[in-house]
Amino acid sequence: MNIKKSFNITVLIKKKIKINKKIIEYKLKRRRGMQSIRLAIYADGNFVVTAPRWYPLYVIRKFIEEKAEWIFERLKNIDLNELGEKKKEDQINYLANKAMAMAAIRNKVRFLNRHYNFIYHRISIKNQKTCWGSASRKGNLNFNYKIIDLPEDLQNYIVVHELCHLKELNHGSKFWELVAESVPEHEKLRKQLKEKSKTI
Ligand SMILES: [Zn+2]
Repeated sequence: MNIKKSFNITVLIKKKIKINKKIIEYKLKRRRGMQSIRLAIYADGNFVVTAPRWYPLYVIRKFIEEKAEWIFERLKNIDLNELGEKKKEDQINYLANKAMAMAAIRNKVRFLNRHYNFIYHRISIKNQKTCWGSASRKGNLNFNYKIIDLPEDLQNYIVVHELCHLKELNHGSKFWELVAESVPEHEKLRKQLKEKSKTI
């Protein structure tokens, strides 16, 4: 489970739309409990459309078409060259630090799992923009290599959070009780992490 996701379950699909003879790619997020459509264009050029689950696709497409001018304006202002440089630099940084991050995180997982004794399969170190860690249904643990730059207590919280998802896949009360066994101050740390996420 993505550590930054809230309780809403989100489905994400890649889509394309043709406006003014140009093909624009976007990611469509279907979210339960949402009442209207939201468009977002991120600094990396990612175009994300969030819509209520029950909205028909033609309504969403029509909405995007109506906002075409705004979309083109935003996309135009994104400097792809500069973006490419940043991405390259980020990738070099990732490759340089991946092995070290793996060693540090593997130790942490082992140590913190002594309390839980959960069974996990693979640990992966990733370079992600939006997520510190995740756990899969198959029992694989993924961590962002940048967590090694975080303060120790936040690192421990992330590892414990993902470990506990091996038992509880949601963020229900049982999940938080499990987390609290090792990290009683998890609420405070979660807020701190949210702040840090803005600069990830
Ligand atoms: Zn989670």
